[in-house]
Amino acid sequence: MDFVWEQNQKKTFRHLTNRWGVSGLHKKVNVQFSPRMTTSLGRCYPVRKLIRLNSVLNDRRNRELLAETLCHEMAHVAVFSLHGKKVKPHGVEWQALMRMAGYEPRVSIDAKEIAGHKRRTTSSKYIYTHYCPRCKIKFIAGRTDRRWRCESCSREKQPGVLLVSKRLRD
Ligand SMILES: [Zn+2]
Ligand SMILES: [Zn+2]
Repeated sequence: MDFVWEQNQKKTFRHLTNRWGVSGLHKKVNVQFSPRMTTSLGRCYPVRKLIRLNSVLNDRRNRELLAETLCHEMAHVAVFSLHGKKVKPHGVEWQALMRMAGYEPRVSIDAKEIAGHKRRTTSSKYIYTHYCPRCKIKFIAGRTDRRWRCESCSREKQPGVLLVSKRLRD
C-alpha cells in the first residue's frame, strides 16, 4: 500500500467510524496481509481487533477491491463493537454500515474480478461454486477444499457445511 492511498484510507475511516457511531475504532484495528489466505479476500477477528487480508489485494489493480474488503471487514468489527455477538455477521446491521460507506453490501466476489488471483493448475479447468443452504451465500473459486466452511455459520457456531458444485470454466 502506498503512502497517499493509506492516508486517504485513514481519512475515509475517520469519517466512517464517526458515522457508524464507533469513532476512532479503525485506529485500534490491526491490518495484516496474509500470503497463505487463498479461499477468501479477508477475514476479521473482532475480539482481537485484527483484520487479515489476502495478499492478492496488494496488487495495484485490486485497489478498489482492497478498499471494499477493508470496509467489509471493518464493518464486521464495528458491528461487533455495537452489538456484540447477538446479530448475524452479514445481517441488516452490517448491511446498513456498508451502505453508509457507499457500497452495495455483497458477501461473495467472483474470482474473475480479482487481478492476479492464483489458480491451481490442477483445477483451472473447473469453477467450483460453494453454496451455504442456510445463509444462501455463494462463493465461486477455481479450487475447492473439503474443509471449507461458511464464514457466517462458523461465527455463529453452526456446522456451515457448504454444497460444492463443479462446472467447466468457460
Ligand atoms: Zn464478511
Ligand atoms: Zn452459512
